[in-house]
Amino acid sequence: MSAKGKKTVSRRAYKPQSQPFWLIFKRCVQIGGCTNILLFLLFHWLGSPILAWVSVVSFVLYVLAYQLLLKRHNKVAVAVVWFEVLAHASLGVVMLGWESGTHVFILLFVPITVASTQLRHALLPVAALWIYYVGLYLLTQLWLPPLQPVSVTATIAIHTVSLGIVIAMLGYLAHLYLSTIHSAQQRLRDLAITDPLTGLSNRRFILEAAHNEAARTVSDTDSLSFVLADLDHFKSINDIHGHEAGDRVLVAVSEVFRSCVRGNDLVARWGGEEFLLMLTDTPARDARNIAERIRQNIESLDIPLGDTSLGVTLTMGLSVHCRGETVGESISRADQALYRGKQAGRNRVEMDT
Ligand code: GH3
Ligand code: MG
Ligand code: MG
Repeated sequence: MSAKGKKTVSRRAYKPQSQPFWLIFKRCVQIGGCTNILLFLLFHWLGSPILAWVSVVSFVLYVLAYQLLLKRHNKVAVAVVWFEVLAHASLGVVMLGWESGTHVFILLFVPITVASTQLRHALLPVAALWIYYVGLYLLTQLWLPPLQPVSVTATIAIHTVSLGIVIAMLGYLAHLYLSTIHSAQQRLRDLAITDPLTGLSNRRFILEAAHNEAARTVSDTDSLSFVLADLDHFKSINDIHGHEAGDRVLVAVSEVFRSCVRGNDLVARWGGEEFLLMLTDTPARDARNIAERIRQNIESLDIPLGDTSLGVTLTMGLSVHCRGETVGESISRADQALYRGKQAGRNRVEMDT
């Protein structure tokens, strides 16, 4: 296929819809529906039956919008909500007068519109909203007296309730938006520091932690040990049993690491079939014992693979961080020890000398 005719799939095509926005919008629709039950009772009580029954129609529209959102007809749902709020708020102003304050509901669209899209796309709808809002104000102030006025007390009550609902919704929306962003950030951070196959920490995270730990290890009595582990002849496992079997071995081995380390220690997938263990407050002898225990546990592993099962061994190099050296230098010494372990026949723990 020619380069011109080739159908390219752009990253933009895969851009997921803004999930947080639609979750928040769904919540707004639920609140909108409930608000209309409240408005129905309020208008009924204040002697404005037309507006009371308009609230019932609005409630039905919110139910419709919610159903549309569930079926992922998001744009139609947005149109229904826009229509409902504009029509309802305008009708309130035309029937009861500007002082009734039902127009404040229109202002809710400003943050919602800006949050839903890029700023340049939001400018036009927000400007249109402003024109509509000012137009409604001028209409009721200059030409159109209230068609079905209610008492001053009722007007104040409707105004107060409308303001209360809008202020509460603005506060709630801000809270919802912030907490959604916060959890999205947390998720991104988790993704950035976790190895997707094994669920262990990744190289980036353990290096960051190691730098912090090394900075904390100021006295000679504090010992920080590094154990670099590499699976033996792992390439042949892939070659003989396939890459998927290799992945399964990596997951099984990482489970052993996870179960053998203590609360303060950290294990990470350092690279392909290499793992790095950081043992805090652990002198060389204890670190060696822990490494030896892990080696034995992995040696006795029986990893199920279809009708058969698979065994695996690993070689480890151990170093203790010295004051004055960098974390990179300590890990490099562990790597040299690991290399010697491989040379000496594999399946062993080799100390840095
Ligand atoms: P040695 O005992 O000397 O360490 O031999 P080795 O075969 O383990 O070493 P080598 O570095 O030659 O091979 C490492 C292999 O690890 C090669 C690569 O295909 C495999 N590998 C790296 N990452 C992954 C992974 O995520 N999944 C699988 N299945 N294999 C991986
Ligand atoms: Mg390797
Ligand atoms: Mg290897």
